Amino acid sequence: METILKIENLTKKFGSLTAVNNLSFTINKGNVYGILGPNGSGKSTTLGIVLNVVNKTQGQFSWFDGTVNTHEALKKVGAIIERPNFYPYMTAMQNLKLVCKIKGVDFNKIDEKLEIVGLIERKNSKFSAFSLGMKQRLAIASALLNDPEILILDEPTNGLDPQGIHQIREIIKQIASNGTTILLASHLLDEVEKVCTHVVVLRKGVKLYAGRVDAMTSSHGFFELKSNNNPQM
Ligand code: ADP
Ligand code: MG
Repeated sequence: METILKIENLTKKFGSLTAVNNLSFTINKGNVYGILGPNGSGKSTTLGIVLNVVNKTQGQFSWFDGTVNTHEALKKVGAIIERPNFYPYMTAMQNLKLVCKIKGVDFNKIDEKLEIVGLIERKNSKFSAFSLGMKQRLAIASALLNDPEILILDEPTNGLDPQGIHQIREIIKQIASNGTTILLASHLLDEVEKVCTHVVVLRKGVKLYAGRVDAMTSSHGFFELKSNNNPQM
């Protein structure tokens, strides 16, 4: 099996706070991985480390079996770790053309990606006219422009209405079904259950479970997450 990302004994401390505590897990090609945990459990910090925007304290991670360094590897990674940020008075198309120039991608990729996220009909609308869900979908289209091996999403449905949430989840599943590996951080148990094949459960930076979503049971030490039926965890 092809390994996309391997994290070994990763630790991140902010002063006396251990945000990520000796974390290890592996992401293999073709699966949909969730990092599940309540707010403050270290999800974003973990993503930040592997995306080279947060410095690790200890441990290692390697991309693509260590065949390339992190800088090269990140050219094959699409990531959305912040709220979508585009030029408000430019259209979806104009914004994506700018991204293409920055990434060195041909403009002819744009329509295909807008199609995937259901925005092809809105390609000439200004970004400022978009709903939050549409903004998020444009961010996904943008992250897909260079045909990444893996798409990383941090809380992709936060702040969206139920329809917006449903659309984003369906789009993620469709992208996965086309062979792109997904890594998604969420505090929502039902999001992970609906979208992911595999999950790493974090609590205060510590891994409680890593494995298939359908094999996650109360015996893994987080009974309350499953039993109280509270999607907010
Ligand atoms: P999550 O994404 O699961 O909500 P985070 O990774 O954002 O969790 O945060 C994990 C812990 O690290 C939290 O207690 C948070 O307050 C702390 N933290 C995150 N970033 C910083 C930072 N830059 N400085 C200090 N503490 C931080
Ligand atoms: Mg977070």
